[in-house]
Amino acid sequence: MRHILIGGLLAVIGILTLDALAMDAGAQVITSGPRTCPAVALTFDLCPVRNKPGFDAALIQLLKERNIPATMFLSGRWATKHDSETRSLLAVPFFEIGTHGQTHAHLPLLERGAQEVEIQDAVTLLASRFGRPTTLFRPPYGEYNDETVQAARALRQRFIYWDVVSGDPDPSLSAEKILDRVERRVRKGSILIFHANGKGRQTREVIDRLTAEVLPKKGLTPVTVSELLACQPQPPTPPRP
Ligand SMILES: [Zn+2]
Repeated sequence: MRHILIGGLLAVIGILTLDALAMDAGAQVITSGPRTCPAVALTFDLCPVRNKPGFDAALIQLLKERNIPATMFLSGRWATKHDSETRSLLAVPFFEIGTHGQTHAHLPLLERGAQEVEIQDAVTLLASRFGRPTTLFRPPYGEYNDETVQAARALRQRFIYWDVVSGDPDPSLSAEKILDRVERRVRKGSILIFHANGKGRQTREVIDRLTAEVLPKKGLTPVTVSELLACQPQPPTPPRP
């Protein structure tokens, strides 16, 4: 009798949990990795830009020279306009690649179907033109609604948000200020958002000091988003010659 009761209770809890997950689209939005993991994910959005170069070559060079794992979220429009830069990012073995929408649209303004198209087109572009399958998605402007989350899930994309916003595109912020903000907020499992499309004037300097001073001091190792979510920090891989 007691066993039956406990079994029934567990079944009810199971159903409630599944229901809660199904009802709460927010549960699908990933803002961090496990808080027990002494690692963080440095992520860089490549939103479309009107004027070239639209690519922070000095930042990428720094990441490559120091073998710093990073995750890049490419918008389709950016990748189309930056063919050689995209290929150079794909060639770095310790960079993980995700997508950031095709046209960098304000997704909540679109219906569910149009949101799917916007998300899928960038995924298709990366696969067909650059031969790279991608399963990580970052919403443009950080904007989303329940339909966005459902669309990403239907397309088998993991919905990657952040818990530490650097604010690096803000031209009024000094490197000191950005670093100070990041240092106060970053902790085990954090996902940090920066930009690699040249909009962040201080990004290179911030990443330089963050990875050389702040993260080592806190005992935090940079890893890719997938590594962080699996909480299996990998030793850095040497870059290809
Ligand atoms: Zn963006």
